[in-house]
Amino acid sequence: MARTSIHTLDLNFQGRQQAIASYMLEHSDGVALVETGPGSTLEALRAALKTHGYGFQHVTHVFLTHIHLDHAGASGYLASQGAQIHVHPQGAAHLLNPEKLIASATRIYGELMEPLWGQFLPVPAEKLTILQDEEEVAVGGLRIRALNTPGHAEHHYAYLLEDACFTGDVGAVRIPGFQYLRLPMPPPELNLEKWRETVARLQKLSLKRIAPTHFGVFDDADWHLGSILARLDEVENWLNQNLPANLPIDELKRNFLAWMERQAHAQGLTPETIEAYRLANPLEISVDGLSRYWKKFRIQR
Ligand SMILES: [Zn+2]
Repeated sequence: MARTSIHTLDLNFQGRQQAIASYMLEHSDGVALVETGPGSTLEALRAALKTHGYGFQHVTHVFLTHIHLDHAGASGYLASQGAQIHVHPQGAAHLLNPEKLIASATRIYGELMEPLWGQFLPVPAEKLTILQDEEEVAVGGLRIRALNTPGHAEHHYAYLLEDACFTGDVGAVRIPGFQYLRLPMPPPELNLEKWRETVARLQKLSLKRIAPTHFGVFDDADWHLGSILARLDEVENWLNQNLPANLPIDELKRNFLAWMERQAHAQGLTPETIEAYRLANPLEISVDGLSRYWKKFRIQR
């Protein structure tokens, strides 16, 4: 089987290595990207493309796993440079008209919105391609297939290329150097049951390579997918131990952070790696997501 090289472009988010990736695939007519990263890392993306001899004008296709700022923020700019942007049906409206997305992110990030994420430009309709589940796109000589993969967000796709899968955030966060991953669990669409179904779907594909956006291409897809399921089980236990008591959200956050700190210690993570995990996946946001999920699906009325 052909094995196309996947080039990991490090966007050096907030000056840190290995937090946010964009993946570059060379093909007969230029390059395709999986994820653009946020608007704030456009210059890093430009520099990374340049090291491979490319500029923005060579980017023909962009495949977005979902529309969160750290994955899709620069897609409007890349569209303005000629790229065709591919996205899940439920993400499309937010790319055409990002006002609501920007407003809700600004409520979370406040004054840090611009320095953290930069500009989120709209994607013009003619530059946007909405893909259906299982739809395959011919890219030069490559074939890339979209897979509906909810759990982290409803509008989430993974993309299949040969024996590799780009898993966005539903593939968890795994910083290189450790056999350890964490689940990014933001509100409002976190759904642990759907996440399990997504992993089961991916497990049927006999993947070899798995490429979560945070961060890098890993050759042990089986282990990785199994570890996501183990993490989902742990989260389930944590929820059952912590949520029924109806604790204030700050106390829940303290408990969750303490749990993650114990894990980091047990894994022997370095301070740099802990920081990369934090940038890729702020833990407090996961507690907000879990709390909302609990209220939505688990409290018996
Ligand atoms: Zn996300």
